[in-house]
Amino acid sequence: MRVLIKGGRVIDPSQEIDQTANILIEDGKVKSFPKDIKKLEKESDIQVIDARGNIVAPGLIDLHVHLREPGFEHKETIRTGCEAAAAGGFTSVVCMPNTNPVNDNASVTEYILLKARTEGIVNVFPVGAITKGEKGEILAEIGEMWEAGCVGISDDGWPVMNSKLMRHAMEYVKAYGIPVISHAEDLNLSAHGVMNEGFTSTILGLRGIPNASEEVMVSRDITLAELTGAHLHIAHVSTAGAVRLIRDAKKRGVNVTAEATPHHFSLTDKVVLSYDTNAKVNPPIRGEKDVEAIKEGLKDGTIDVIATDHAPHSEDEKKVEFDLAPFGISGLETGLPLSLQLVKDGVLTLPELVKKLTVNPAKIIGIDRGTLKTGAIADVVIFDPDKSVKVDREKFRSKGKNTPFHGWELSGCVLHTIVGGKVVFSG
Ligand SMILES: [Zn+2]
Repeated sequence: MRVLIKGGRVIDPSQEIDQTANILIEDGKVKSFPKDIKKLEKESDIQVIDARGNIVAPGLIDLHVHLREPGFEHKETIRTGCEAAAAGGFTSVVCMPNTNPVNDNASVTEYILLKARTEGIVNVFPVGAITKGEKGEILAEIGEMWEAGCVGISDDGWPVMNSKLMRHAMEYVKAYGIPVISHAEDLNLSAHGVMNEGFTSTILGLRGIPNASEEVMVSRDITLAELTGAHLHIAHVSTAGAVRLIRDAKKRGVNVTAEATPHHFSLTDKVVLSYDTNAKVNPPIRGEKDVEAIKEGLKDGTIDVIATDHAPHSEDEKKVEFDLAPFGISGLETGLPLSLQLVKDGVLTLPELVKKLTVNPAKIIGIDRGTLKTGAIADVVIFDPDKSVKVDREKFRSKGKNTPFHGWELSGCVLHTIVGGKVVFSG
């Protein structure tokens, strides 16, 4: 089967392309950029997608997703998570290991990959745990998991509090060329907090998580990356201080990369004033200065990637007191429109935004995706950046309806998502 995408504005930062073009897909790969398509269009075995007036880009890559399977299938499965990804324009997702059992050995990695192959409609790249059971005590079977297909290691959901163990993890992964992904949080400073520590938490009488909780650990992990030379990737940066630390480390040549989530640059902690548990997330939604610093970090390249930290939960789990609700936002289906707001606000150009959602995440985990180069696997997204959409959680493909953006009017609508040359979603 061949697919012809005609007349779209093709944005491919991996080749510094931003121009109107046609793309021909054959045998699941990008075949060519044909100029004259009159004959081609009439051939019988070709699916023609009219992309005039729309953006054609490499399929988006989400570096931070919780697919919940195995163990928490009432929150999400690999099947529903992949469907949500496709609807959001993502052709690849990187899934965190905090499942049950934890992905801390090759058999769990293999299970996830098998499920993804048989039931997933997008590419799934697992991240293995740093420590057994994410308990922070003994290193997991990192080599085995790498061989089975893990693209990074992380105890996401939890920090590795033991600095010596974190050092060993960094020394270990250097041999495999994969990043250590840090959920940077000092649990003693967080002290069971449930939201950002500040004016709003004081008014509400809720326990706060100070910015220092994140910054202390970002600082430690940068120090350890400097010591070991390992590739450190900081997940979900939420504070101005963390942005500053990463910027300074990059200037010194430390091998560090970073991501920010749409909710951390779209909301301030005032969102919690309604006690909406759908805005309860870890790290918490921060103050205005932090939001501005994240945007500045995205603009100057300190933050390489936008990742959703898609963390679906069931309605029952979130319908409790703020203190008791689990952390997390269902992010795959709002990630692109929330990110497009950065373009509207003049923070990023559209090609700069696409770069942070395609070639940059691909480079961090070392996968051959995020590009429309001739011969590349044809993962493509086609979207209308200006079409307005009203967020309706009831229409989410994800089982997780936990979004603080329900009812928001946003711009940006995914029209087609193509994985390996096959259309897996049309909106
Ligand atoms: Zn995390």
